[in-house]
Amino acid sequence: MSDTVLVVGAGPTGLSAAAAASSVGKKVVLVEKEAILGGAPIISGYAKLVPSGEWAKDAIGRMVARVENDSGIAIHKSSRVVKLDGEAGNFTATLSNGTTVNCGAVILGTGFTHFDSINKPEWGFGTFEDVLTTTQMEQMVASGKIACPSDGRVPERVAILLCVGSRDRQIGREWCSKICCTVSTNLAMEIKELSPTTDVFIYYMDIRTFGLYEDKFYWKSQEEFKTKFVKARIAEVTRAPDGRLLVKGEDTLVKRPIVIPFDIVVHAIGMDPNEENPEIAKVFGVGLEKHGFLDRGEQYTNSFSSMRRGVYVGGSALGPEDIDTSISHGLAMAMRAVGEMNGLVQKAA
Ligand SMILES: Cc1cc2nc3c(=O)[nH]c(=O)nc-3n(C[C@H](O)[C@H](O)[C@H](O)COP(=O)(O)OP(=O)(O)OC[C@H]3O[C@@H](n4cnc5c(N)ncnc54)[C@H](O)[C@@H]3O)c2cc1C
Ligand code: SF4
Repeated sequence: MSDTVLVVGAGPTGLSAAAAASSVGKKVVLVEKEAILGGAPIISGYAKLVPSGEWAKDAIGRMVARVENDSGIAIHKSSRVVKLDGEAGNFTATLSNGTTVNCGAVILGTGFTHFDSINKPEWGFGTFEDVLTTTQMEQMVASGKIACPSDGRVPERVAILLCVGSRDRQIGREWCSKICCTVSTNLAMEIKELSPTTDVFIYYMDIRTFGLYEDKFYWKSQEEFKTKFVKARIAEVTRAPDGRLLVKGEDTLVKRPIVIPFDIVVHAIGMDPNEENPEIAKVFGVGLEKHGFLDRGEQYTNSFSSMRRGVYVGGSALGPEDIDTSISHGLAMAMRAVGEMNGLVQKAA
């Protein structure tokens, strides 16, 4: 029986699982495919997180530092698991860097992939320089200056289009990405704070600032920061003769066509399944649910189990999740993994 927990993926989910398993005395091996730890919030350079308002580099940076300073956690960056043999209590994982890891349980925190807006070409991304994604706009906010990428002018108007790559059956993405309404209302306030002369419009189907986020983000953005909400179906984004961007669609409240010029258009991109999931499913012997996220085993009495005993899955690998939930999944998976490993040791004794 091995006393080591293998954690794959060092985003909020994996960082939380690794720290938790180590805190109860297990040895942990953490494998991350990128050269840096922290997952999407660090790799994509998010600005201030919702709901805490803390900069991602500080908040997630603390999670990274906790793991890096823990002598019970061995970290392999720029690595993947290429093979997993054995069974619960006694797995052998082969890493792409040639290392072999003997482990009792495996925790998958392999996360998601941002929707690539190129797959929504009629909304102008990749065609017009001033059409950006939320992650690009967050990087602009983090730089401290709001300006049009094409010529550096201060934008008079910014449009944020919600549900880009989510709730869109035409492109095979039926799911709601859960967090982008809240992220976008927050982004609207950040833009206004940095550039008070800029008006921000949010185009929406529904607003899903769930739970406690309703007044803190939706109402605050509307009432204090004067964000304008337009319920609309967008047809296309084109360029006007003066070089500005035209957002064309139908106002679904008054059922009339609307065309409004903007200086910057932001796509609120959704959360796709990790593009590597078919390979991950093969290597770890786990299943995929119908949209391509990793599948759960039994949900209520065997939470965070995968289709293979001893391999756990949680966080945004299971479907769109926010950071708080991903951190909780990490903690829960560590508990499940350690509990099962201890049980197997007792049985063997
Ligand atoms: C635009 C945008 C803004 C957001 N802002 C917020 C916010 O403000 N607040 C909030 O709560 N949530 C926010 N979210 C959601 C947040 O990004 C996720 O909740 C969080 O990143 C999920 O953490 P995770 O660890 O499950 O996945 P990830 O962050 O995706 O981390 C997964 C890690 O696994 C690694 N990995 C993947 N495959 C492999 C492999 N095969 N082998 C080894 N390593 C692998 C990846 O490189 C990555 O480091 C936002 C989402 C989007 C799209
Ligand atoms: S959270 Fe909002 S923007 Fe994101 S997919 Fe759901 S409804 Fe659309």
